[in-house]
Order: sequence, then C-alpha cells, then structure tokens
Amino acid sequence: HATASTAADQKLLDALRRYWGYDEFRPLQLQAMQCAMEHRDSVVVLPTGGGKSLCYQVPAVCLEGLTVVVSPLISLMKDQVDALTDCGVRAACVHSMIGPDEKRQIAEEIRSGEMRMLYVAPERVVQPRTIEFLKSIPVAQIAVDEAHCISSWGHDFRPEYRQLRLLRKALPGVGMHAYTATATERVRQDVAEQLDLEDAQMLVGDFDRPNLIYRVKRKNRAIDQIRSVIDQHPRAAGIVYCISRKQVEETAATLAATGVRVRPYHAGLDDEIRQRHQSEFAQEEVDVIVATVAFGMGIDKSNVRYVIHSGMPKSLEQYQQESGRAGRDGLEAECLLLYSGGDAALWRRLIEQGAQNQPGAEEGQLGALEALNAMSDFCHSATCRHHSLVAYFGQQLERDNCGACDACLCEIETIDDALTIGQKILSCVLRLEERYGADYTAKVLVGSNDQRIIERGHEKLSTHGLLEELPLRTVRDWTEQLVGQGFLEKSGEYNLLTVTQLGREMLRGELTPRLLKPVKASSSSRSRST
Ligand code: ADP
Ligand code: ZN
Repeated sequence: HATASTAADQKLLDALRRYWGYDEFRPLQLQAMQCAMEHRDSVVVLPTGGGKSLCYQVPAVCLEGLTVVVSPLISLMKDQVDALTDCGVRAACVHSMIGPDEKRQIAEEIRSGEMRMLYVAPERVVQPRTIEFLKSIPVAQIAVDEAHCISSWGHDFRPEYRQLRLLRKALPGVGMHAYTATATERVRQDVAEQLDLEDAQMLVGDFDRPNLIYRVKRKNRAIDQIRSVIDQHPRAAGIVYCISRKQVEETAATLAATGVRVRPYHAGLDDEIRQRHQSEFAQEEVDVIVATVAFGMGIDKSNVRYVIHSGMPKSLEQYQQESGRAGRDGLEAECLLLYSGGDAALWRRLIEQGAQNQPGAEEGQLGALEALNAMSDFCHSATCRHHSLVAYFGQQLERDNCGACDACLCEIETIDDALTIGQKILSCVLRLEERYGADYTAKVLVGSNDQRIIERGHEKLSTHGLLEELPLRTVRDWTEQLVGQGFLEKSGEYNLLTVTQLGREMLRGELTPRLLKPVKASSSSRSRST
C-alpha cells in the first residue's frame, strides 16, 4: 500500500482519517486521488468494493471548489449522499424528485462554498441551465461514475452518457476522472476518447480474488447441485443468484421446504419485505438469500462463504461482481456457476428486445452481445477460471496452476482421445483454408450436406464427416474450447477460425488439448424446464 509522502498526500491521509476513520489507502486509491489533486485526467478501474468512491470523495474535501459527480441512478446517489452526510461531508444530489425550493437552497450552499459535492444524473448535468450554473462557480473536479456506460463496446451502454463531452467543453480547465469496475482494454480507451480526456492516467486495479474457488458446471438437476454446495457449508452465509424473479421464488420455496433458512430477494417484492430479508441475512437470522441481480448494491457482508449462480449471467463483468461478494474477508469461499445453452439464448433475446425498445440503445447491442459471448466462452472452456477472468479484464496471472478452480483441481471431466479429436478439428480448419467460422467448420466435420457445403464442394473434403458419429453441438463446443485454450483463434469481423502456433504444435502431437466430456442432451433439456 502506498504511503503519504508529499504535503498533498498528507492532506489526503488526514482527511481519510478525520472524515472516514480509515487508517490507510486501498491499492491505487492514493494514486487516483493524486490525479484529482493535480487536475490530471484519469480512468480508474477497480473491482467492485475496491473503494472507487473514496478516490473522488477524499479529494473533494481537500480541494477548493465543488466536486461534481455524475452518477446514473437516483438510488446510488442517495446512498452516497447519506453516507457522506454521516461522515460530516456536505453533499447533495439533484434529480427529478428534488423540488424547486430544495434546489435553490442547494445552489445557495454551493455559492457560499459550503457544499463539497454535488451528485447529478448525466442527462441533467448537460442541460444548458446546469452548465451555465457550473460555469459561474469554482468547480474542483468532475467524477464520472460507472463510466463504462459511455462506451457502446461495453456491456451497459447508456446513450445519455454520450453528452458528457459537453461538460468537458464547458469546463475546459477542470480535471475529469472516470471510474468503473468493468472495463476491457478497448472500453477503457473508448471511455478516455468519448470523454475527451487529455493524457489520462490509466489506473487498473487487481481483479484476481485468489481466495475464491471457481467451479463451472452444466446445469443438471440444478436444485440438487445448489443443495450440495449449501450442505457443504452448514449455517454459513450464501447467495444464490437466479436469472428471473420466478426462478427466485421457486428456488427459495424448494430450499425452504427442505429446511434451509432462506429468503427470496428481487425487485418485484415490496420495499419493506426486501429490506427485511436483506437485514435478516445481514444479521444472520437466515443463511441463504436467493436473488436476482437486484441484490447486492449496498450489501457489505464480508463472510459470505459461497455464491451460486443457478443460471449464466449476461457478462463476465456481472459474474465477477456477483461472485466477488463471496469471501470479502479474505478467507476461502466457493463460487459455483451453473449454465445451460438456454441461458445464453434467453439473454440474447433480452438484449435484442432491449435494443429495439430503447431509442439509441441499438448501438450498445454489439457490446452487450460480445460480452455475452465472452461469458459463454468462459462456461464452455476447460482452462483456469482465475486466469480467464483476469485475462478478460486485461491482466495476467502469475501462477500457472491456481489450485482454486475446477480446471486446475482437475475436476472437469475430460475426454481421453482429446488429441485425436483436436487434430481432426484443426485439420478441418486448415482444409477450409482458414476461411470459415466455427459453425461451418463443425458442420463439415459432422458430415452435413447443408446447401452451402454442397455449393462449395466441401462435402468432398477429406475432413468432411470425420466426426460423423457426434452431435453438432458437441463438435461446436469443442471448437470453442480449442479457441479458449489458444489452439485456434477467431479473426476478422466474421470470426474466421485460424490455427495458431500452439495449434501447429498440437497437430504435431507435441501438445494435448483438454476437451470436456459432453453431457447427455436429456439432462440439459430437463434442467431447462425447472
Ligand atoms: P466501489 O465503488 O469500488 O465498489 P466503494 O467505494 O463502495 O467501492 O467502497 C467499498 C467499501 O470499502 C465501502 O464500505 C468503503 O467505505 C470501504 N473503503 C473504501 N476505501 C477504504 C479504505 N481505504 N479503508 C477502509 N475501507 C475502505
Ligand atoms: Zn485455475
């Protein structure tokens, strides 16, 4: 952890102690705060719970002038303002629920210099009136929370974020700082570009959570799979995430019927009930919360021993965030992810519908679909989960064998003749001159007489029908696994398969891939109906 060395650092540390009662900075917090103090633009990427808010809140009490925070949700703003008020920091938010009198009073306090921080929604902060007001007062810094929302490459594009560059134009000398828990390299660059940041400092935190054990399994009688994790942690706190409210209700009821102390949690429940369930969980009156994505914001329970996903989330960002609620205390905790092909199809439908119903959102659809594919690849792969997760966030893991995931613990059931099968798949890619995608290649391998195949004469290839005895799905899955392990690569906008250097070594028999044992079709269709 960084220690304070300059006068400005000392000032920050004093403020951290005085207002928040904390003794030291978390990783990268001081560096992020230094950017704010020096009015140097920055992009700060820290995992959820990493302490992003303090990165702009502490400088806010040290700098002259008002700190403007752009935040997408009223509930988030309120929580933050309440927490700041408790710490003795003068802060306010303006949104549609704030009346004209209150607004006038806030403006007054800003003019008099008492107000340290103002939280505003993106669509409001760029209104001409707001901009005129901000130009008339000293502004210390602009903090953009959930900054990935500005990028259509991200998993959660919000068109209203796009206008934030107006703010930069209107307040050219003011440092602008973007914060997010979720950004691949491309999104990071895009955030800096879209906000018009100048020579932005990029600060990217550590996304690995070594104390979490990740396991990913095909859904197969999900309730039994969930139950077996719960049984291994008697009386410990755990969270079960479901995709839909209905699944939450059903799962919670089934678990309750078998004696688990459990409560449901989703946005369809009354506020009061939701709060009660959350506090029962916090107070350890119940052990398990079954929830939709709605659960998580603002929970600060450190001893959650397991997080189970009964369906696949829509992105690795979401997965990282939700599974990350386990083991905050640094002790070992378990994360089980159950998936089926149906989950991906469901998300795809929802993303496409969402894009249709929301003007301006079409642009974000590609980003959302790409994020979904990465999530799906993660499920289908047989490589180290810690490795795959941090790689997605643009980082590398130093350990070769993490010892804390199903792949490294050799729990994944793999097939014995993976080398032969891998070689067959790669040969087919080469026969197709590396000009086709995974679907087409798999079709040729199982010997399909699809019209496109006949038209191109590919039914005459020696690799046509090499894996004739197998279901297309299985061959398709294995192809993805070979991509995941670096033997194949997808390139260009059509995701054409090409054989990598590693792939060539495999063709020579110098390396062996790991291919998952296929599950029987009957079990996955049964789980989909539960
Ligand atoms: P993020 O926005 O990155 O998800 P938060 O800003 O909400 O994270 O911080 C998560 C929790 O960690 C909060 O309860 C916060 O008060 C606490 N926290 C942040 N920084 C520190 C620190 N330096 N020392 C102790 N606790 C901290
Ligand atoms: Zn591993």
